[in-house]
Amino acid sequence: MTKTLFKNAKVFTGKNESFEAFDFVVDDQTGNFTQEEAVDQTIDLAGKYVMPGMINAHTHIVADPYSQIAQLGSPDSTAPTSTFLALTNLQKLLSDGVTYIRDVGSVAEVDIELSALERKGEFLAPGIMASGNPLAMTGGHFSEGSYEVDGVDEVRKYARFLLKKGVGNIKLMATGGVSFDGETPHDIQLTESELQAAVEEAHHKGRTANAHAQGTEGIQNALRAGVDSIEHAVYLDEETIAMFLQRGTYIVPTLAAPWAMIQEANQLPEFMVRKSLELSEAHSQSIGNAAQAGVPLAMGTDSGTAFNNFDQNSSIEMELMVNAGVTNLQALQAATINAANLLQIEKQTGTIEADKLADFIILDDNPLENIKALQAEKSVYKKGKKVK
Ligand SMILES: [Zn+2]
Repeated sequence: MTKTLFKNAKVFTGKNESFEAFDFVVDDQTGNFTQEEAVDQTIDLAGKYVMPGMINAHTHIVADPYSQIAQLGSPDSTAPTSTFLALTNLQKLLSDGVTYIRDVGSVAEVDIELSALERKGEFLAPGIMASGNPLAMTGGHFSEGSYEVDGVDEVRKYARFLLKKGVGNIKLMATGGVSFDGETPHDIQLTESELQAAVEEAHHKGRTANAHAQGTEGIQNALRAGVDSIEHAVYLDEETIAMFLQRGTYIVPTLAAPWAMIQEANQLPEFMVRKSLELSEAHSQSIGNAAQAGVPLAMGTDSGTAFNNFDQNSSIEMELMVNAGVTNLQALQAATINAANLLQIEKQTGTIEADKLADFIILDDNPLENIKALQAEKSVYKKGKKVK
């Protein structure tokens, strides 16, 4: 066992608002930061910038963004293939500096089982908050990979079923979206009372619930139902932003999802490209307006959707947020302390503090001055072990 002092770096701990001189000690046996001062070795980080590892609050680790190995929700996404993809994608996330994820749409309980194995220390990867399969209305968004549920009683039944399986979060489909044909982002799907039944069950068990919601009306339904975060939040007006502020509900923007589709427009079906182009400007504006109004954000990419990769897009999402009008500090908080609060893992991670997981990244430049610093070469530590 080795205790290592990291000294002379400028550090954003997650609680301060700038990079400041802050020396810290890592215990590689517990995998935590420690207050102990007797150390075995010292690493000099003069000129470097250190921040907590990023938390990505919206991934689909069983998905192949290139649809070469399997198409999520199709018969190809068997349990072994999905597990292979998940393990590969987790390592890619780690290489981008992501040390914890919330997976919000899996198959075959892959995320639930990998989450338990990671917690036991069976393999080194980002920590995982699992949601299992989402709940969608019959024929709703991603219904081929969701449990199709209709009516309050059935939603309640499946919410309890997921909680029994051990999910940390319940994912709900409140509107249509971009990735599937035959629906629009404005379509209302699970109703307010259906959403509310799942939220109630999650909260009774001390867990969270979140909703895929893109159109204004569906977002408002999910907000009134009491979800902990709204995913995507494409069309926000002033009234809706006020509802977020009143309830303290988080937004997980996932700007990388439509961005990635637009980058690869010539390789995608017409409906995906058309819908991405239609919403991308409103999406950026909504996220910028919400951030300026003070709505808490948690970083998430939706990695696993078309061409939305795992090895770069978390740090690209940070840039997309800043381009949308989110401040650099808000973006850093979204990926660290805020996401930890949303996932209710703030006692374990999200800040650089004694007795929390030694999950951190080392950068050459200051991301508060240039958010692209996150996309450059970096070192990544997970539970005190250097993984990149
Ligand atoms: Zn998603």
